[in-house]
Amino acid sequence: MAIVVDESVFSPNYVPERLPHREQQLQSIDMLLSSWLQAPGHHYPRATLLGRPGTGKTVTVRKLWEIYKERSKARFVYINGFIYRNFTTIVGEIARSLEIPFPRRGLSRDEFLALLIEHLRERDLYMFLVLDDAFNLAPDILSTFIRLGQEVDKLGAFRIALIVVGHNDTVLNNLDPSTRGIMGKYVIRFSPYTKEQIFSILLDRARAGLAEGSYSEDILQMIADITGAQSPLDTNRGDARLAIDILYRAAYAAQQNGRRQITPEDVRRSSKEVLFGISEEVLVGLPLHEKLFLLAIVRSLKISHMPYVTFGEAEEAYKIACEEYGEKPRVHSQLWTYLNDLREKGIIETRQNKRGEGVRGRTTLISIGTEPLDTLESVLAKLIREELR
Ligand code: ADP
Ligand code: MG
Repeated sequence: MAIVVDESVFSPNYVPERLPHREQQLQSIDMLLSSWLQAPGHHYPRATLLGRPGTGKTVTVRKLWEIYKERSKARFVYINGFIYRNFTTIVGEIARSLEIPFPRRGLSRDEFLALLIEHLRERDLYMFLVLDDAFNLAPDILSTFIRLGQEVDKLGAFRIALIVVGHNDTVLNNLDPSTRGIMGKYVIRFSPYTKEQIFSILLDRARAGLAEGSYSEDILQMIADITGAQSPLDTNRGDARLAIDILYRAAYAAQQNGRRQITPEDVRRSSKEVLFGISEEVLVGLPLHEKLFLLAIVRSLKISHMPYVTFGEAEEAYKIACEEYGEKPRVHSQLWTYLNDLREKGIIETRQNKRGEGVRGRTTLISIGTEPLDTLESVLAKLIREELR
């Protein structure tokens, strides 16, 4: 008998009936955008949504659009920053979503933008633009789109409403001051979900997608306990995506084993297959060789049985990994760039060694505190294989 009775409830695009604990955020966005969505053109509405992965930013935006799509003249244009990062691919995706013909190249940035505005005016289109996970975009590209909304066409209409989504304030702080000023005031924050909040999200999901009697509240509570934040400041936890993912894996495993009920052991096993502090999305977005370098760090940490490895050890392991995957290694200085990026993304920690730590000379020590290395290794290896296919 099936435990997972509705697969779609667990798909990334699923928008649930209600969004518990996000009423306030939804209302704030609604206040900023509703008048434009219903009668666009008079002003340029914009908002920045900030919060760690899995705090419901994307689903809240989708919910807002569900509320208005029937009665809005505007078109919804969703840009995933992990996939569309450079200017031309973003403009191309906007044009594709709006179904307007567009040259792929041969124009300057300003010409592209002028053409886009011209198309919007000629076809009388309004665009509700969402730049999701916009920390993937270079600041100058992001500011180009922020400024674009300020353009008024010859009829005096503001044709764009904008939502920028990020993990934290860096996405705004990286902008030049005047562009930051345009977005500045309208920030809506998404705090990590607490255990109780995750529990209620899981309960909704289980009711919608799993067979009655296949799960107990204890099972849901168990998942909530391992994924939920202790407090709203605990940004290492509180990821609803992770919680839902563990529930789905546990349900699926029980079903595969021909059982009618999910057991605590299913949860334990499933929770070992997923990453906690690091979002898989973030890993997917890393350049191939940054993934290889990270894989090398993970492997050297596994071999060393120490809490840290040196940069030199990681570099050696990286060369071996390159050989294994038939890739030409990047130069030393590039690896430093990767190292800094991995640190900025919160995936690794680094520090300088101290005297008497068993390492000669001055060197950089690298550690990974948040993840089981085996899981991280297998996720990375999977991503790398997929990318090289
Ligand atoms: P973010 O964009 O902040 O990384 P998402 O919006 O993708 O997070 O949410 C992650 C997962 O958790 C999605 O499956 C989403 O449907 C679910 N989710 C997040 N918040 C809620 C909520 N308040 N109620 C129900 N489901 C939620
Ligand atoms: Mg998201």
